[in-house]
Amino acid sequence: MYVRPRSPPSQCAEPDMCNIVGSDFSQRHRYFSLYDEGCLLDHVGWYSVTPELIANQIAERCRCNTIVDAFCGVGGNAIAFAQTCERVIAVDNDETRLRLARHNAVIYGVADRIEFVLGDFIQFVKTLARRGEAGQGERAVDVIFLSPPWGGPSYLHGTNSDPPSDASQHPEFRLSDITPIHGSELFKLAEHITPNIAYYLPRNANLQDISDLATNTEQGSSGIENKTRMVEVEEERMAGKLKALTCYFGGLAQGQEDLF
Ligand code: SAH
Repeated sequence: MYVRPRSPPSQCAEPDMCNIVGSDFSQRHRYFSLYDEGCLLDHVGWYSVTPELIANQIAERCRCNTIVDAFCGVGGNAIAFAQTCERVIAVDNDETRLRLARHNAVIYGVADRIEFVLGDFIQFVKTLARRGEAGQGERAVDVIFLSPPWGGPSYLHGTNSDPPSDASQHPEFRLSDITPIHGSELFKLAEHITPNIAYYLPRNANLQDISDLATNTEQGSSGIENKTRMVEVEEERMAGKLKALTCYFGGLAQGQEDLF
């Protein structure tokens, strides 16, 4: 099912959508500046799409040859990546959402730069690692972008009503809240493919959890070694409000460009 309300929620023909769309509908041009050209979002898309200006900023930082958008949703990030990267592999396990992403990419004129893959990212990344496609040749993956489900629109405080604007009032979001697997396990899987990872997380994400991701335990010549690298956390704002955090690892973090 996809829903594309043109009218405010009070006149919305889809009762299911009216709860969600409320404040989101008024943000539609922030989500897709070409919304009026026919962009489509489903229920999940309305609350999960990355606003276009934020997506563009992330895409600028992730500029590379091949990027994997591991959880592409309705295409907010994939469309932006297609404008800075040669090749985008956009994965989602929801067929409808993947079709909406393709539809939206056509409107932006970038569908030919995106390979849409219907499937479970966990299986996808394991297969990629097994095949050894990760780091070699033309099909090498340079960057992985992770924007996994945060557990629905209630990730900030456990209800669907408008969240308080002061981030300090929210309980912390832990990487263990991420689905389909623990957020740090997800990160480790992606690291098998590339160290260059951008992780899009809620604004109330626990910073210690994030910094722990940058500590690698490795078997060195003198036993187990902890290697700590930098992670750069970027605050993403929309209309002045803190919306999310993008965490840049590996060669995406400032000062570590040599890792790229
Ligand atoms: N960045 C996207 C929004 C992502 S929302 C955008 O800007 O539009 C998270 C997406 O993850 C949802 O579309 C959901 O269908 C997808 N998803 C959930 N579990 C998945 C899995 N195991 N593999 C691939 N995609 C998954």
